[in-house]
Amino acid sequence: MRDYYDILGVQRGCDEAALKSAFRKKAMEHHPDRNGGCGDAETRFKEVNEAYSVLSDAQKRAAYDRYGHAGVNGANGGGQGFNDVHDIFNEVFGDAFGEMFGGGRRRQNNGPARGADLRYDLEITLEQAYAGADVEITVPSSITCEPCDGSGAKPGTSPTVCNSCGGAGRVRATQGFFAIERTCPRCGGSGKLVLDPCKACHGHGQVRRDRTLSVRIPPGVDDGARIRLAGEGDAGQRGGPRGDLYIFLSVTPHDLFERDGLDLLCTVPVAMCTAALGGEIEAPCLTGGEDCDGECRIPVKIPEGVQTGKTIRLKGRGMPSLRTRERGDLIVELFVETPTHLSARQKELLRELADLCGDAQHPQASGFMGKAKKFWDGVTGQA
Ligand SMILES: [Zn+2]
Ligand SMILES: [Zn+2]
Repeated sequence: MRDYYDILGVQRGCDEAALKSAFRKKAMEHHPDRNGGCGDAETRFKEVNEAYSVLSDAQKRAAYDRYGHAGVNGANGGGQGFNDVHDIFNEVFGDAFGEMFGGGRRRQNNGPARGADLRYDLEITLEQAYAGADVEITVPSSITCEPCDGSGAKPGTSPTVCNSCGGAGRVRATQGFFAIERTCPRCGGSGKLVLDPCKACHGHGQVRRDRTLSVRIPPGVDDGARIRLAGEGDAGQRGGPRGDLYIFLSVTPHDLFERDGLDLLCTVPVAMCTAALGGEIEAPCLTGGEDCDGECRIPVKIPEGVQTGKTIRLKGRGMPSLRTRERGDLIVELFVETPTHLSARQKELLRELADLCGDAQHPQASGFMGKAKKFWDGVTGQA
């Protein structure tokens, strides 16, 4: 077992300030949060804490100076008395350090504390994102206990000032030369004692409840949008304000539409004959606009001889913008469908048509065949 003074890198007989500053330095160096939680750093960190917890205690330090590890191990029941590493740590560093690493335990204090922020994941339909909606949600959250009004004391009574710390929440322990200030163990730092706890909250001052809230979804929201409901998070403590509630929105994929920014894309099949002859089809759209009959359908003119992949842009039929009055377009992409399961009569008619069709009717095919012929001739020429 290494020497405690060596671990902290201090001289025997150094004063409390030197000890404390050496501990700060070493603890920072070996803090597991800084070392990616690797095993070695954690062992070192524990060593540093153990060394400091012994040397910072005047009695233990005196025993250690006299008898070495045997002196303190005996007093500690085999050196196993260092379970609450974070407590010692927070005593010395306080909140600033805890926040710096986002870890550790927050020191309790007796001032008002803001309630926690809450996150709620809400899935909405594209229709709701398009038109906007009011959605009811149920959020489990902490609320101030009503019977005791958050004090935690049985109604009619009130918490008394902690007689250990006189309400300060901190106590100074003097051991020989040393005075160490720590969180009052009696009241846990709140400065108050509840002698007769409220039955509804068992003295916590808060209870868990499902709260039903109505969330206004503005028209035009997109997948991944976040809505903040100020003051709808957990209740604060000791008169602190409530936290906020953050709604994380996701939009369920739609069967017909795909969103691209403000535009909506919809692939619509067109019968081969309609594609050849031209005509009119009905495309689905989201409600809105003068031409829309309210049934979410919109007529689309199909020009004669239309091909697969042709897109028709319907102005202003896309998503509304969240911030401006702009609206996207609905883009209808056509896909020409070849008829299947033809009857003998239908096949006869198609054969007759095929005989009558020439290259002029299939410019793509004849253009392609021209290039292919050239390619094949080149291959034969090389051989
Ligand atoms: Zn106290
Ligand atoms: Zn209560």
